[in-house]
Amino acid sequence: MGKNFRIKTAASSRMPLLNHEESSNQGLSDLEEGSAVQPANVGFCRVFRLAKPDTGILVLATIALLIASFSSILIPKYGGKIIDIVSRDVREPEQRAEAFNAVKNTIIQIVVIVVTGSICTALRAWLFNSASERVVARLRKDLFGHLINQEIAFYDVTRTGELLSRLSEDTQIIKNAATTNLSEALRNITTTLIGLCFMFATSKKLTLLALVIVPAISVAVRKFGRYLRELSHKTQAAAAVAASIAEESFGAIRTVRSFAQEDHEISRYSEKVDETLKLGLKQAKVVGLFSGGLNAASTLSVIAVVIYGAYLTIYGSMTTGALTSFILYSLTVGSAVSALSGLYTTVMKASGASRRVFQLLDRVSSMPKSGDKCPIGDEDGDVELDDVWFAYPSRPTHMVLKGVTLKLMPGSKVALVGPSGGGKTTIANLIERFYDPLKGKILLSGVPLVEISHHFLHRKVSIVSQEPILFNCSIEENIAYGMEGNASISDIENAARMANAHEFISKFPDKYKTFVGERGVRLSGGQKQRVAIARALLMNPRVLLLDEATSALDAESEYLVQDAMDSLMKGRTVLVIAHRLSTVKSADTVAVVSDGQIVESGTHDELLSSNGIYTALVKRQLQGPRDEDNGVLAMT
Ligand code: ADP
Ligand code: MG
Repeated sequence: MGKNFRIKTAASSRMPLLNHEESSNQGLSDLEEGSAVQPANVGFCRVFRLAKPDTGILVLATIALLIASFSSILIPKYGGKIIDIVSRDVREPEQRAEAFNAVKNTIIQIVVIVVTGSICTALRAWLFNSASERVVARLRKDLFGHLINQEIAFYDVTRTGELLSRLSEDTQIIKNAATTNLSEALRNITTTLIGLCFMFATSKKLTLLALVIVPAISVAVRKFGRYLRELSHKTQAAAAVAASIAEESFGAIRTVRSFAQEDHEISRYSEKVDETLKLGLKQAKVVGLFSGGLNAASTLSVIAVVIYGAYLTIYGSMTTGALTSFILYSLTVGSAVSALSGLYTTVMKASGASRRVFQLLDRVSSMPKSGDKCPIGDEDGDVELDDVWFAYPSRPTHMVLKGVTLKLMPGSKVALVGPSGGGKTTIANLIERFYDPLKGKILLSGVPLVEISHHFLHRKVSIVSQEPILFNCSIEENIAYGMEGNASISDIENAARMANAHEFISKFPDKYKTFVGERGVRLSGGQKQRVAIARALLMNPRVLLLDEATSALDAESEYLVQDAMDSLMKGRTVLVIAHRLSTVKSADTVAVVSDGQIVESGTHDELLSSNGIYTALVKRQLQGPRDEDNGVLAMT
């Protein structure tokens, strides 16, 4: 078996180029820097593109909206009509009766308008709200689907809390802007436009006077909008950092408690919340100034209109009713415009939030997509690393693997030993294709990993690591994870039996339906590990990677887990990163990994007789209190 192995020294291999590193080392902070060049409103407009499947509903909603706005602006017209009727000089009883009848008729018309308007308002609100709920659900699903497919290196540099904040908070802000605000904005815009038409029809001169302030307002609005959008972008960033701190503290609650660092965590979180608060207060001030200014400007213009209108009426070029209607129109338009300014604020905030969301959505994974080859049959399944060089994208200058060459024959067992930090786990990570090597090749049955179908690769290659993570669901579902619903209860039980897990699972009141808690906290280390082994067993992989699967366990669970692992290893190609001498001894090949290189390899006996690092490693253990079989290679 020693022949399956080639050792290459660093001297014979060239340093690979690191040129892809800069691009792949792209966390959220880099995204933000890139955002400065994005056009301002792109983000928010894209939200509307997401609404495409709801076009039908939106068209209906818009029709309802137009009718509702039209009816609201008709009311001043009829109000003016009543005033004109009432202020007519009537003395004869018939004339009075006629006038009263006319008022009655007008009121009936108003009631019809109000009822129609209300029905349409209800329709508009309902339809717009449901459409935007769907848009945001779609946005969340898209974003989650996109993020979960990003390469592992992205998660090395990105805080989960930040992503959560994008997923929940930013999308919520977008939803608020897209729900109530979109329909309100449309309503107010149509009200304003229709109102202006009516105003023009009533009096051109007065309307022009009322519009004098428009250019000044529009300049102010643009400046303010841009400023607010930037501010909101920053606020959201700060909020996301706060969220990530909270997420980290909750996730590490046991560590926090054991070091009594609750106050430290509180101050860390408060500090970030205060940063968010500072930005939020700045926003509040700006919004206040803006609304106040707008209010002053519009009130002044209404006063000017009233004065000039009074003059026109006194000199007879306008009726009292027309003046009343005009003032009512301009008040309606005024309130629509001020509502619009409030909405503008929200839209600008949402535009900041959506920019962040779309930056994430646009992020392209730096790992090439996997191919569609399915190379392994039932019997083969050899793995070959050929002069593999690797540095983690999050630390591109630190070369972790320096020309590793290693071959695992089908059905053979290779043990990796060596000092901590030497690169053993990294080798397992690369075989799982969590990362791609910078240089060199990793082949499964002679096919480069990148050409192999993603699903096929992970069905055929399973990893059991030192700290297995379970999902917050039942034991049964955890064992069947990866089977995509194709596992029967008896399969699951069999796997659990082989993993020495059936007995303890059966003792739980809920048996296989027992919930394991977040990350599996409600199980002991040994129990968790055995469930993880059962999970790997059920997949029936050809290649098995065991990364110090027993090192975190006490002697009793180690025995049980070891027993489970022995049944798991039977008939498969195995790469075992081991700390127990007995595991290492039973391997076909032992490779000593140190400082990113394979420095020795061969069978246990060959290595012992060569008197190298391995011999020293074993000797050191044998001088300890344990006997040879239970010896622990503490350097792993
Ligand atoms: P071993 O399993 O042999 O103890 P590892 O393969 O885990 O060692 O680590 C090898 C080196 O890679 C260490 O120096 C470690 O600091 C570094 N490393 C491991 N994981 C990462 C990561 N996700 N990002 C950056 N560096 C890492
Ligand atoms: Mg390790």
